[in-house]
Amino acid sequence: ATSTEHTHADLHLRHRAVLPDWLATYYTSPIELTHGEGRHVWDAEGTRYLDFFGGILTTMTAHALPEVTAAVSEQAGKLLHSSTLYLSHHAVELAERIARLSGIPDARVFFTTSGTEANDTALLLATNYRRSNQILALRNSYHGRSFTSIGITGNSAWSPTSLSPLQTLYVHGGVRTRGPYAYLSDAAFTAACVEDLEDMLGQANGTVAAFIAEPVQGVGGFTSGPDGLLAAFKRVLDRHGILWITDEVQTGWGRTGDNFWGWQAHGQAGPPDVLTFAKGIGNGLSMGGVVARAEVMNSMNANSISTFGGSPVTAAGALANLTYLIDHDLPGNARRVGGLLRSRLEAIGAGLSMVREVRGRGLMLGIELVDPGTDTPSGSAAGLVQEAAREQGVLIGKGGRAGNALRIAPPLSLTVAEAEEGAAALEMALKQVQSALEAQSVPEGGSVL
Ligand code: PMP
Repeated sequence: ATSTEHTHADLHLRHRAVLPDWLATYYTSPIELTHGEGRHVWDAEGTRYLDFFGGILTTMTAHALPEVTAAVSEQAGKLLHSSTLYLSHHAVELAERIARLSGIPDARVFFTTSGTEANDTALLLATNYRRSNQILALRNSYHGRSFTSIGITGNSAWSPTSLSPLQTLYVHGGVRTRGPYAYLSDAAFTAACVEDLEDMLGQANGTVAAFIAEPVQGVGGFTSGPDGLLAAFKRVLDRHGILWITDEVQTGWGRTGDNFWGWQAHGQAGPPDVLTFAKGIGNGLSMGGVVARAEVMNSMNANSISTFGGSPVTAAGALANLTYLIDHDLPGNARRVGGLLRSRLEAIGAGLSMVREVRGRGLMLGIELVDPGTDTPSGSAAGLVQEAAREQGVLIGKGGRAGNALRIAPPLSLTVAEAEEGAAALEMALKQVQSALEAQSVPEGGSVL
């Protein structure tokens, strides 16, 4: 073994000995990334990968984007941190731009260091404003794993504990092609979900504070209801004065191509009351935040609730990142290149009985896998494809209720050539795994999975 290999194996052992057992890493032999450029990353052994997951959608524009590096280094060389107790021109300018982009009138912006903290703050605002700890959320939802945000996580497999300070009512609407309403038309699906929402509200114990939803469910496997569903929900919410919180941690900044925010696919609803963001805005720097109508944001009786939120270095980097995104129309690129990639993946999937569905929009594309020739979700197939794709030089993510959806979310500057290269590698990986699974299937006709 070379010294690099030895160091890598050693690092894995040390990682396992000192970090928590529940801190999952991808791959049986986890990757140590050392650097990136554009849409590519390199590991400690010098292997280059096409990055089709962008560090769980954090790399929004590109790896090592010179504009972000320059902004961060310049600010880091002057002052790393000053706390929220002092003024920061980077934070103010970033907040002004995000307030304008959010579509929320009279918007106020509060910066956090993560998506979880952004959602915690949104829940703090909504429960305080409405004087209620009852929340409506979607089944199959993921909003973080803090003590508060696990209370609105619709899948117990993603919750570290079952305890929660919130009373949560879960409704249908996030998953279009499975569950009791799967085979309905869009209009009938929407009507059924609205009826479910009304039914849940009838079971609520008095005031409900807010309804929170990811416009496209991320960890849930890049799945969503039909366009306009949340607008139909909003009409019901408005009758009860319930706030609408849109979790844009994955769907924000043009990721979905057609819209700058995921909520805009439900545009007839009008702007949400509260919007949370994180991940992509910092291009990897830990930055998140909440946008809310002033009346809601200012209802809270607190002075400062964060030390680091909107710190000069992260705000400077995020500002440079956002400027690049808009100047280069990367949301438009996500629409164009994402559309091509989706067609390619659909064509590949059509020939494979292991692929149940290709879905998503923009550069947020999911592939749902089943045991070949059945309708049974296969998390193990997804794991095998992920490993095989790595061998082909492409990094992808996984998600979905049974861990059976492949998640594809490259940096938004993906080129057509890279989309083609990634699709070809995925085709190879999918075919390899399907053949291996078919070859393994037991003679009696049962599945080995
Ligand atoms: N909301 C959504 C929709 C997410 O996907 C995530 C992270 N996967 C979070 C919130 C939590 O964000 P973070 O991990 O930055 O705390």
